[in-house]
Amino acid sequence: MNLYPLNDVAKNAAKYANEGVTIHQQWLCSHCHVKQTMGEANIFYTSGECEECGQVTDIARDGCNFVAVINVSVQSARSAARH
Ligand SMILES: [Zn+2]
Repeated sequence: MNLYPLNDVAKNAAKYANEGVTIHQQWLCSHCHVKQTMGEANIFYTSGECEECGQVTDIARDGCNFVAVINVSVQSARSAARH
């Protein structure tokens, strides 16, 4: 995963969020280097606590990325036949 400056990533993600796409901030723990995904959607944090080692990473300093989740609603097709 590539890391980009927080402000750039948040700006880019806002475009997706405005279109109804759910985004989750992703970042790398600077201590154990495990990829982390924020549980809260559409929020960008300047720091994050690692779920693996419990240590805090300065995301504003190290950069981050995000994953976009496109919500697709599937509707069953109604029968067009009318008799
Ligand atoms: Zn960690």
